[in-house]
Amino acid sequence: MDKPRVRFAPSPTGALHIGGVRTALYDYLIAKQKGGAFVLRIEDTDQTRYVPGAEEYIKEALEWVGLVPDEGPGYGGDYGPYRQSERKAIYKEYAQKLIASGNAYYAFDTPEELTAAREAAVAAGNHSFKYDSTARQKMRNSVSLSAAEVEQLLADNTPYVIRLKVPTDETISFNDEIKGMVKFNSNELDDKVMMKGDGMPTYHLANVVDDRLMKINLVIRGDEWLSSTPHHVLLYRAFGWGDEMPVFAHLPLILKPKGKGKLSKRDGAKFGFPVFPLGWKGATEEDSFDGFKDFGFDPAAVVNFLAFLGWNPGTEQEIFSLEELVENFSLDKVGKSGARFDYEKAKWFNQQYLIAADNGVLAKMVRPIIEANGHTPSQVFLEQFCGLMKERVMLLPEFWEKGYYFFENIKEYEGKPIRKKWKPDRRAKFETLRNAINEVTDFKADNIETVVKAFVEESELGFGNVLPILRIGVSGTMKGPSIYEIIALIGKEETATRLVTAFDAFDAMKAAV
Ligand code: GLU
Repeated sequence: MDKPRVRFAPSPTGALHIGGVRTALYDYLIAKQKGGAFVLRIEDTDQTRYVPGAEEYIKEALEWVGLVPDEGPGYGGDYGPYRQSERKAIYKEYAQKLIASGNAYYAFDTPEELTAAREAAVAAGNHSFKYDSTARQKMRNSVSLSAAEVEQLLADNTPYVIRLKVPTDETISFNDEIKGMVKFNSNELDDKVMMKGDGMPTYHLANVVDDRLMKINLVIRGDEWLSSTPHHVLLYRAFGWGDEMPVFAHLPLILKPKGKGKLSKRDGAKFGFPVFPLGWKGATEEDSFDGFKDFGFDPAAVVNFLAFLGWNPGTEQEIFSLEELVENFSLDKVGKSGARFDYEKAKWFNQQYLIAADNGVLAKMVRPIIEANGHTPSQVFLEQFCGLMKERVMLLPEFWEKGYYFFENIKEYEGKPIRKKWKPDRRAKFETLRNAINEVTDFKADNIETVVKAFVEESELGFGNVLPILRIGVSGTMKGPSIYEIIALIGKEETATRLVTAFDAFDAMKAAV
C-alpha cells in the first residue's frame, strides 16, 4: 500500500464516546507507523443531529490524548474543506453522476406514501418495509414512472430524494482486514437514500465521495458500520472506482464490563466510571458528565488502555507509550470478537503511569487538587509526598483522599485496632515513645525507625502493640506508606502534637466502649 491516509470521521452529535477515541488512536497509529497522514473529517451533514460545541470537544479530546490530526478543520491540509457541511456542491455533483449513469434514481414518494407502504408491509406479516428492487417497481420514482412523468415532476419542483439502485442477485464481497472475507447478498440490501429532500447527502454518499477525494486508502471504523459497507462498495463501483477501493477494517465492539451488549453512553452514569475522554456539559443534567480527565487519569494511561481494547501485542508487555504503540501496533493483532471494557484495568494502567512518573511531574498534577483543599505546600514537600503515595493510588484525586493527613489534622481514627490495642494504663509508656521521637536530632525516617525499634524492645510491648498506635495516632489509618517516612515528612512538632491529641482521643474511644 502507498503511505496510509487514514481518516477519523466523527459526526458532531455530542461528546465523543471513548470508542471513537479508540478508532482515532488506531487510525493515528497506522498512519504514523508508515509515515502517512491522520486526517480528521467532520461529518456534519445531518443537521437534525448537529450539536454545537461537539466539534470543539472532538478536537480537544484528540489533543488531550496526544492524537493531533495532520489534516482537518483548523489543522490545514490539501484536501479540504474537511467539514462536510462545506462540501455540499461536491455531493450534488456526484449524486447527479449516479443518476446519469443509471446507478441511482429520483424517488418522489411522499411521507404519507412511505408510511402507507410501511403499514402495508407490516400488515402483510413482514418485519418492516424495505425500499428494494421489488418495492422500487411499485413506488413513485424514476424507475417506475415514464420519462415524461419524471420530467414533469422535476419541472414542477416536486420534492424528491435520490436513491441508490442496488442490483439484484449479486454477492457483494470485500476483504476486511480484521473480519476476513465478508459477503452480502444484494437482495438483502435496500435502495439507500443518497441525497435527502433538503439537498443534503446522506452519510453513505458523503463518506464515500470524501474518502475518494481525500485519497483515503484505509478505512478503520467501528463494527456498527460493517453493514453499510456493501452499499459503499456499490458506490465505488458505480463511480468507476471499484478497483481502487480503500482497505476496510472494522473494529470489534466495546462491550459492557459485565453482562451482555455494547458499552453505551449511559453505562458511565450507571456504573460510576467515565465513558468519555473529557467532561461534557449537555442541555440536561442527564446529558452532562465527567470524563477520564476529571476522574484523574493521565492521558498516556488512557491511550495505553484503549490500545488494549481490541489489540494485544502477543507478548507479556502491557505498558506502551504512544511512540511504542506506533512502533508495535498492527491490525492483524486486533481481535474479531468484542472487547470488554474493564474499568479496573483502566485504573491499573493509570497506577502504572503514576508509579513510573517523576515526582516533580506528579507534584505539578497533584498541586491543584491539594490547593483546592486549601493547602499550599512547598514543592519539595509535595514531591516527597507524591513519592510516598504514588504506589498507593490509582487516580489523582486519591492523593488527597488517601493522603490528606499530610496536610491537615486527622479527620477520623480507625477505631477497631485502637479499641483492641489501646490500654489506658500504657499511656505513660507511649509518652516515652513520643518523647524519644521528639528527641531525634536528625529527623530522618531511618533514625526515627531506630528509636521506635528500641522502644519496642525496651517496653517489651512487641511491634504488634506499638505500630498500630503510632500509625493511627499520626495518620488516622492503618493503610499508607512507611510510618517512619510519614513522621519524617510531617515533622517533629506536628508528630508530637498529633500524638498527644491521639492519646486523648484513644482514651475517650476506650471509655466509650
Ligand atoms: N460519521 C461516521 C461516525 O460518526 C463515520 C463512520 C465511518 O468512519 O465511516 O462514526
